[in-house]
Order: sequence, then C-alpha cells, then structure tokens
Amino acid sequence: MDVTAPAHPHKVIACREYNVIVPFVCHRCGNCCRRYEPIIELELLPEIARSLGEPIDVIQNRLGADSLSHSAGHPTDCCFLHPRHSGCIIYEVRPTDCRQFPPLTGVGTGAVDCPGYREYSRVLNEFTCSPEHLRQGRSAAAGGQRQIPPHARRDVLRTLTNAKASAPFLQVFEEMNG
Ligand code: SF4
Repeated sequence: MDVTAPAHPHKVIACREYNVIVPFVCHRCGNCCRRYEPIIELELLPEIARSLGEPIDVIQNRLGADSLSHSAGHPTDCCFLHPRHSGCIIYEVRPTDCRQFPPLTGVGTGAVDCPGYREYSRVLNEFTCSPEHLRQGRSAAAGGQRQIPPHARRDVLRTLTNAKASAPFLQVFEEMNG
C-alpha cells in the first residue's frame, strides 16, 4: 500500500496573495467499483480481513471468484462494494490501485462517471477563471504556505458556492486551507 499517498489528492493554485488547495473528495458513490477488479496487494490481505472480521481465506475466495468471472468475460462489481449502499466496505484499507483513482492529471476518469472528479474540476475552473482571485495574473505556485487571509475568505466562499461545492467538500477544503 502506498502510505505516502495523501488522504485527499489535491492541486495548489497560486492566487494573488495566497494559495488555494483544491482537494479531490470522494462521494463514495461506487461508480468506479462497478464491473471492476482492483489489484490488491498481498500484504494488505491481513488488514482487509481484520477490518471485515473475516478469515483471510474467505477474502481470497471472494477475490478468486471475481477474478474468474472477469477472465471469463463476465466482469462483476468489485467484491468489496457494498451491495446496497454503493460504498467501499474496505475504504480505510483500500489498495493503491483504488487510492490512485481518479488521476488528477487532467487525463480524466475514462468511462467512469465520477461525481467527485466533476466537483473537483468545477471548483478548479471557478478558481482559475475568477478575477477576484487572479486579478494580478496567474503566478507560479509559490513555495511555502500562503494561507488565505481573512479579508479574502468571502471571495473564496463565493467561488465555492458558484462551483456548487458539496458539504463534505467544504469540510475537507476548510481542513486543508485552515
Ligand atoms: S466514482 Fe469517484 S466519487 Fe464515486 S466512489 Fe469512485 S472515486 Fe469516489
């Protein structure tokens, strides 16, 4: 597992006198888990088994059954996708493969309809197109932390509202931009 991966992948935008950290926040909709077989690191199996309260061989059997279906051309949903609530049941110990989705490189999310990525893109666009934040022109990301000053908070909030940022997004945004 890539323990260095941040809890929320993000991009830093250099604004006039401050940096804005735009995080990606997963909506736990499960769209990326449908008809998908993740690559699970072997060393994660004990942690997954512990988190589910199941023996490792039961987990291995589930993964094996999924693998067989996929190889036979009948892709199933990830076996760790909750059947009713659409959420990942091993989210806290999910493998690197899942932690790295979606890529925030601008390549996009392929065929997956990812509401978290759409929200991330909306917020990014609002900030990069907003004259309030960039009225002196775009500067390169400055080193060190340049926190959002109190007098700019109202503009930042307006931008987030224009981007229709969700409550969970706003919470993470607040935590990361302090
Ligand atoms: S599709 Fe996007 S928002 Fe939905 S669970 Fe996957 S990463 Fe999260």
